[in-house]
Amino acid sequence: MSKEEKKSILGFTKEELQKLISPTFRIKQIFNWLYHKRVKSFLDMKNLPKNLREELENKYNIKELEIISKQKSSDGSIKYLFKLKDNHTVEAVLLKMKDAVYNEDGSIKHLPKYTVCVSSQVGCKVGCAFCLTAKGGFVRDLKANEIVEQVLQIYEDNNIDCNRKVNIVYMGMGEPLDNLENVAKAIKIFSDMDGMSISVHRQTISTSGLSSKIDKLAKMDLGINLAISLHAVDDELRQKLMPINKAYNIASIIEAVRRFPVNLRKKVMFEYLMIKDVNDDIKSAKKLVKLLNGIKAKVNLIYFNPYPGSEFERPEEKRVKEFQQYLLNKGVLCTIRESKGLDISAACGQLREQNLGEKV
Ligand code: SF4
Repeated sequence: MSKEEKKSILGFTKEELQKLISPTFRIKQIFNWLYHKRVKSFLDMKNLPKNLREELENKYNIKELEIISKQKSSDGSIKYLFKLKDNHTVEAVLLKMKDAVYNEDGSIKHLPKYTVCVSSQVGCKVGCAFCLTAKGGFVRDLKANEIVEQVLQIYEDNNIDCNRKVNIVYMGMGEPLDNLENVAKAIKIFSDMDGMSISVHRQTISTSGLSSKIDKLAKMDLGINLAISLHAVDDELRQKLMPINKAYNIASIIEAVRRFPVNLRKKVMFEYLMIKDVNDDIKSAKKLVKLLNGIKAKVNLIYFNPYPGSEFERPEEKRVKEFQQYLLNKGVLCTIRESKGLDISAACGQLREQNLGEKV
């Protein structure tokens, strides 16, 4: 079998491998080698019989993605550009949410906390006006292994121990609900107890609000967290920012969210991109409170990150704080997302766009 025809083993759930490899206990061993010991060759899987190692080596790949660019921000966030097997590129970002804390004697008290933001598609069909990924159009869906490998390589590149759990957000390039099959498979692979064991409670799908797909996700009952990129409180503005709103308006999204099963201790996150003089006023805050009435919601305010050529601007800190305070006063949990990686072109698609530009 030629190398080109080989599939990546990282795209298989344990259940799928059980249909291909026997006896069953070998699958656990393979998962251990892949996700704990992180070997790069099946031939190194020492506790497997030689013939199985050779068979796997002939049939499957372990590594398909290549890191072709890396930008480190002063806050510790790292943006990666991965080259896929077909030479397309996608981004992923390691966000350092909390720094390590040390004891007086220099020993470590708390390890740093990380979130990995992964891409689910090459490009995107949704076409948000503020997004650089959208400008490049849609190329293709990522396969499950291409999603899994982004996280795995980031673990390796940062020497993060396999027992440390990162949070995963499907918020990089692409609309995850538009590639639900592969994203759902990646979720299962990440959460497998014999693999990376990253619980579904640590994983969040962030969607532009494809209402019908939110219902589909609800039916799958994966137990995953949901985040909605709302960004505006009236359809007219939302349509301008997110043309997809024509097909899925605000009311349809809110109804779908009301139907979505939410874990007792969890809330649905509403992302609200604050854009200067567009949606950062108290009138919008009032409408938002009304819209979310009765939903277990948490609002996350995000500063718009201007990129070269963007028609929008970053809001003033004062306006964002006033907006937040209004929501808090009305009993709506509201946080302001720290601007991670401001100095590394952190909005999705920016690194890729730069790279494509450089190649031209
Ligand atoms: S913001 Fe997200 S959903 Fe919108 S176009 Fe960009 S990648 Fe797609």
